[in-house]
Amino acid sequence: MVPFGRQKKVGLILEIVNESDLPKSKLRQCINIIDQDPVFSESDLWIISFASKYYQHPIGRVIAAALPTYLKKDRPAISLVEEIQITKKGNEIIPDEIKKRAPKQAQLISYLQKKQSITVDILNKKTIEWKSQRRSLLKKEWITISHVPSKLNTQRSISIPIKGPALNSEQKIAVNKINETQYFKPFLLDGITGSGKTEVYLRVILEVLKTGKQCLILVPEIGLTTQFIERVIQRIGIEPVLLHSSLTEHQRFKAWQMTRNPQTKLILGTRSAIFAPIHNLGIIIVDEENDISYKQQDGFRYSARDLAVTKAKYFDIPIILGSATPSLESLNLIKQKKYTELTLQKRAGNAQLPSMHLVDMTKGYAPDGLSPSLIKTIKKHLKKDGQILIYINRRGFAPTLICTSCNHIAQCLRCDSRMTVYLSQNKLACHHCGSYREYTEKCIICNGEYKALGQGTQRLEEVLGKYFPNIMIKRIDSDSTRLKGTMDEALNIANTGKARILVGTQMLSKGHHFPSLTLVAVINADQGLFSNDFRGSERLAQSLIQVSGRAGREDQKGQVIIQTEYPDHPFWEALFEGGYKRVAEHTLQEREAASWPPFSYLALIRVSSHKKDFTWEFLNSAHQIIEKDKLNDINIMGPVSAPMERKAGKYRGQLLLHCKNRKSLHQQISLFIKKIERKKCTHRVKWSVDIDPIELF
Ligand code: ADP
Ligand code: ZN
Repeated sequence: MVPFGRQKKVGLILEIVNESDLPKSKLRQCINIIDQDPVFSESDLWIISFASKYYQHPIGRVIAAALPTYLKKDRPAISLVEEIQITKKGNEIIPDEIKKRAPKQAQLISYLQKKQSITVDILNKKTIEWKSQRRSLLKKEWITISHVPSKLNTQRSISIPIKGPALNSEQKIAVNKINETQYFKPFLLDGITGSGKTEVYLRVILEVLKTGKQCLILVPEIGLTTQFIERVIQRIGIEPVLLHSSLTEHQRFKAWQMTRNPQTKLILGTRSAIFAPIHNLGIIIVDEENDISYKQQDGFRYSARDLAVTKAKYFDIPIILGSATPSLESLNLIKQKKYTELTLQKRAGNAQLPSMHLVDMTKGYAPDGLSPSLIKTIKKHLKKDGQILIYINRRGFAPTLICTSCNHIAQCLRCDSRMTVYLSQNKLACHHCGSYREYTEKCIICNGEYKALGQGTQRLEEVLGKYFPNIMIKRIDSDSTRLKGTMDEALNIANTGKARILVGTQMLSKGHHFPSLTLVAVINADQGLFSNDFRGSERLAQSLIQVSGRAGREDQKGQVIIQTEYPDHPFWEALFEGGYKRVAEHTLQEREAASWPPFSYLALIRVSSHKKDFTWEFLNSAHQIIEKDKLNDINIMGPVSAPMERKAGKYRGQLLLHCKNRKSLHQQISLFIKKIERKKCTHRVKWSVDIDPIELF
């Protein structure tokens, strides 16, 4: 605990030195030391300091991200308990001889002679009255008392594991290759959806556990992991320690403490679990490695996937990156032979990959966003007892509210964005800042008629209800699952097949296994075709493959229908003829030609402020600094306003640095940070540096 301005704060001692560059008058004294033993081990600190240097983020902030919040409030990480030990002298006492004189002492000594030592919390549970004897026993030097760390909770086996299916030949090869490896080696487990990647993880985990080492499994979102966790328990018999953001402060601390215990075998968590204090690590598994959730998008902007590889290297252990749609970064590393590729090309068991079709939306009349041929296909699948997933990446009723006479579009007052219409709640809401206002039927400018334009999940739910009045339709998006328990309930209805038509956003597109689902319809994929981010087509292909993978996971073959107004776009040909791999190959070529990542490295400087002038003052100053000591191979792109310049009342701008050489880029950025921090213009803005940004705004 240290003084911090007028407050006190919890700090972490990183180093003890004999001298300081600061004058003595500037040095302050610790208030007290909360933990006697180090909270972080050498390996924990190694990854923390690596992340701080790599992401150019102050080490204090990185530690704050790695340390459970519970410990930032004057609480010891390791709680101590008193332990009573019997001395040599005490061991020589014959309890029967003192029994008459001091029966209580005799009872305790006889007990201690059997156990030699015992912590008081356990002793308190026995019916041995000892507190009154403590002083006397200490004085006679029959016992000593010391403080020891209280026992950490241990992960226990909770059931007898059941045997898994016999592996197919591709799975066998993958499992054998990984199990053969005892040193650092990154494997990319590239397996189509439903090909049995999870089965491979489970076999590898079982093998690692035999060696007494620990396994860390990273997943993009905990909400999508229920089925996976159940499978782990079934097959391994252990409940993994879970680390994720929906835990309470205390739960998180408990989980963190469990992970420090070398007896803890299995740790499963989201992004921040990469900082879990695991000291006897045997393998790291990163499921859905391409998922953008692995990158923290604010504050300390790190990639848990990339840090996982670094951590595996530090521990000199294998790491598995699994995906049906690997990131272009990983695919490129395969080409460079830095990663080893393991492929699963067949669906496991009897399941087959679904067939895919495009529907040309420029032909025919589809006023409510559903083409006649889609309606026909839905009917067909319903008849055969199939379940249907209607996928659209927009929640709400409609994304736009426009006036039919003056063409005025309802805008957010705090953002450069349109308001989304929520008809049933009679409101307009902004998805960027969360503000909302009442919906009016008449235009606020000319009093003309408003019209809701385009489709959102709520509108589709309504329209489908008209086409299929006797069918249970379930909408699953972040609006419908906001309340606690509603997500589980919705998934349950989806899983049992009770809801025959599901309308959902990307929330439903990954990870789920709905047994009776046979048809996936993608309503509006076109936005992705014209994205102004260079990662647009990679993302579009990934989400389409992901959502397609929900169809036909069991015996019934699945079908996927994609509606588009641009059927001639070359993206479709690549996707339909060569699948994800072809799109990835094309995109890699384009990126190489344009020298975008993974063929170069990026650092993005972002700034925002409530006044446009302040934002630009910073941007110009940043530009000047970088220009002045610019290394030869650095390209400066910008400064420019962010694509959505105003968000939540703040004006946003950015400056992108591009370089073929990671070292130069890091050098340039660290020089820049040192210089800009001294400038006044930083006081009036919020600014950040994002190394390896995955979103360019
Ligand atoms: P993925 O993780 O690639 O999506 P899973 O491991 O979840 O795939 O496997 C999909 C389904 O196939 C699961 O129901 C799983 O139990 C089953 N499965 C996996 N491997 C085999 C196998 N070798 N034989 C039979 N069924 C399998
Ligand atoms: Zn807004």
